[in-house]
Amino acid sequence: MQYKLWIDGQWVDSAGGGKMRIENPATGEQIAEAQDATRADVDSAVQAAKRAFYDGRWSRLTPGERSKAIWRFAELLEKNSEEFARVESENTGKPYKFLSLASDVPFTVDNLKFFAAAARDTHGSHAGEFMAGYTSMYRREPVGVIGQITPWNYPLNMAGWKIGPALAAGCTIVLKPAPGTPLTTLMLAELTKEAGIPDGVVNILSGGNDAGQAIAEHPDVRMVCITGSVGTGKKVMRTAADTLKRVHLELGGKAPFIVFDDSDPELVAAKASFAATANTGQDCTAATRIYVEKGRAKDMREAVVEAMKNVKVGSPFDDSVVMGPLISGGQRERVMGFVERAKSQGAKVLTGGGVPKELDKGYFYSPTVIAGVEQDWEIVQQEVFGPVITIQEFENESQALHLGNDVLYGLAASVFTKDVGRAMRLTGQLEFGTVWINDHLPITSETPHGGFKQSGFGKDLSAEAVGDYQITKHVMIAHG
Ligand code: NAD
Repeated sequence: MQYKLWIDGQWVDSAGGGKMRIENPATGEQIAEAQDATRADVDSAVQAAKRAFYDGRWSRLTPGERSKAIWRFAELLEKNSEEFARVESENTGKPYKFLSLASDVPFTVDNLKFFAAAARDTHGSHAGEFMAGYTSMYRREPVGVIGQITPWNYPLNMAGWKIGPALAAGCTIVLKPAPGTPLTTLMLAELTKEAGIPDGVVNILSGGNDAGQAIAEHPDVRMVCITGSVGTGKKVMRTAADTLKRVHLELGGKAPFIVFDDSDPELVAAKASFAATANTGQDCTAATRIYVEKGRAKDMREAVVEAMKNVKVGSPFDDSVVMGPLISGGQRERVMGFVERAKSQGAKVLTGGGVPKELDKGYFYSPTVIAGVEQDWEIVQQEVFGPVITIQEFENESQALHLGNDVLYGLAASVFTKDVGRAMRLTGQLEFGTVWINDHLPITSETPHGGFKQSGFGKDLSAEAVGDYQITKHVMIAHG
């Protein structure tokens, strides 16, 4: 496939003619070329989305009609699952069978089917007499043209999380995937047309950070939604202030994984190693900071180290592999930098901490466990975004809570204990958008995903996400 820009229902060349090299992180080889959208391309896409919004070709369809088209879109993706999974794995290094085919693609299909259903949800709209002689009613209307910007760690999944609720609400879209991973998002373009979603409703532009900046600046974009790093989220929010557009920010995380003595070390090890290495740790909800209660800290630490050593790393197209490479050379440098700086502060690497010997091509990095760290060190406070966990000990429940909350992020956390009362006390006090008890990572289409604190605000997934793309209008009717 030749990848171009998808504007107003057709492929077009970028006005600037710029190209981006797209590579396979498992080999470092080029696999495609994508176009680099300019400010002029962003404007064309926004104008197409604006026409499509105001002439009502999508926003004024009945919810049932919109639902049908989103459902068809989901079915087309499902029909093409293997092709999408293959390209996603080539572009990101995700294990094909274990992740792309078993999880990323089917979960995106499920997300879209959920949003097709959510398009028809009527909860929350009501009418009544609040002043004598008048009837008030609330209309939930689509916000308008939405700018959407996604990261590289789950390209297809993030596209589904953005497109699904915006379409369900009746909005039109200009979506820009991350510069290095635009392929599967661009592949969705023609499926929208085949599903019967009208031209101009979904526009997709591959491009760099400048194209994202142009979307956030554009005066006709009513809301900008971004999944990305905290630094980018802050920039987007500042930019959006100039036109007072709404912002929806899904940013980084640094999830604590809190383990009490009454937990089973085997369960803890299995969950921690999976939650730290799934998607090579490039997951905003990944388990990153393990806190174990002092009494059984040695047992827990040994079980976790053993499980991390057993994670099978290798080629994305080897069916027994569960962890592929990091996304790029730059990302591997970044991860290595965190680990080396922690070592120079006195940390002990219990396993990993380097490139696996037999994997010298591509951007592989070993599952890594680090101990002997202090709470205020960079490795504990900052998002590493690689298969790296730290282990620290705590004395009691209140210290565990303090350590868990003591970061700028607030996306996800987990607690392992058999004591229901303790689990519930901590759940109420952990400042995170998701708290798991005795697990870490599962996610569903029906339940909201989003941050507290500097992990941002606004929800992806669930009916709440659809609500984020709607605005309430009060209509007051005099009885006369
Ligand atoms: P990033 O912030 O570098 O880039 C994200 C996107 O923003 C890219 O498409 C990029 O081109 C664009 N962008 C960059 N500068 C911009 C600007 N000034 N204006 C507008 N757009 C701009 O993030 P990344 O490295 O691609 O992704 C990793 C980050 O994403 C991690 O921090 C991770 O935690 C976060 N993430 C969060 C969630 C969540 O749901 N909260 C999910 C996945 C990833």
